[in-house]
Amino acid sequence: MNEPIPGKEMFDALMDKGVIILAANVRVTPGVARGIFRAAKDLDSAVMFEIAMSECNLDYGYTGMRPCDYSDQIKEAAEQVEYDIWALHADHITLKKGTPDDVENAKRLIDAQIEAGFTSYAIDASYLYDVTQSDLKAALARNIEITTELAKYIETKMGDEPFGLEVEVGEIGKKNESGHVLTTPEEAVIFVKGLNKNGVYPQVLAIANGASHGNIYDEHGNLVEQVSIDIPQTKAVAKALRDNGLNVRIAQHGITGTPRELINTVFPKGDLIKGNVGTFWQNIVLDTYKVYQPELYKDMYAWTLQKYKPKNPGKADNEVFGKNVKYALKEYYDRIHGVDEETTASLEALAYAEARVFIKAFGSKGSASIVRDAMKK
Ligand SMILES: [Zn+2]
Repeated sequence: MNEPIPGKEMFDALMDKGVIILAANVRVTPGVARGIFRAAKDLDSAVMFEIAMSECNLDYGYTGMRPCDYSDQIKEAAEQVEYDIWALHADHITLKKGTPDDVENAKRLIDAQIEAGFTSYAIDASYLYDVTQSDLKAALARNIEITTELAKYIETKMGDEPFGLEVEVGEIGKKNESGHVLTTPEEAVIFVKGLNKNGVYPQVLAIANGASHGNIYDEHGNLVEQVSIDIPQTKAVAKALRDNGLNVRIAQHGITGTPRELINTVFPKGDLIKGNVGTFWQNIVLDTYKVYQPELYKDMYAWTLQKYKPKNPGKADNEVFGKNVKYALKEYYDRIHGVDEETTASLEALAYAEARVFIKAFGSKGSASIVRDAMKK
């Protein structure tokens, strides 16, 4: 009870049920994790908690957490709320070079994540796309090779235990002269088929579809909404996967800033099976600190600007702060994790309310029962 369930069982049970699973990346857990769990419980929604390699690793990442720290904090919240249908996802296990060192490093992280009880893994070798190759198969060969090696590694280490597997074909947020680089249906199919041929069967595929990670700003440094996700292209990729008999659906990365009414009305639920929301929760925490922890907020603001303003000439303070404050989380870890009960209670209430809206917009209400029933069989 209250331990994370295998991501595979969640994905399999919710495949083509018109549900996007909320995958909450909670860089600051106090209050927030409990609020999200409470919303999931009240609305009978499956939920995932995730954290990326850059944020949380054996060297504490930029959030100041190791995999066991994140796992402990999320499990504690699950126990307090007494919630069962959730999975713990290791997001963006990234291999930028694919060198033996790179692979070894990823394996050490995976060891720690398995030890910490993660039940789902995202291997991201999308950077290894070979732009010099005109043939898609050749361009994707390195990504397929490295993703296979790591997926097999997880499989061996997990023994008989099933686990969730997400793989990544297009680099999220990548741009060229003509704008966002988008994953084509053909590319997605070649990639998944290549993995299947090697005996690797992911349930989820991350694609480049116009979304970017984190907060987005206009040329004046004002925070703006994200409306760049290419819905027709996303649908086309999902259709190609289905038409080829591949049991893989899409993970939407970088949802922060996307208007929820848009998610509710135009996001293709079912084509998308997983919706990653990260920076959104960090924004709530910082907004709350402005009132409840003004000293902490002021110190984090000053630290971030002092460190990142010189690296971003010509950018407004607001933007420099919004894009780089994540790096202050490790520096201020003890103060963040030592905030008073009044602050945590407010964070919990806000996270609860916002998670409810996401679960509604994602069509995920009632999804926990579907998973529960499938697991009984
Ligand atoms: Zn992502």
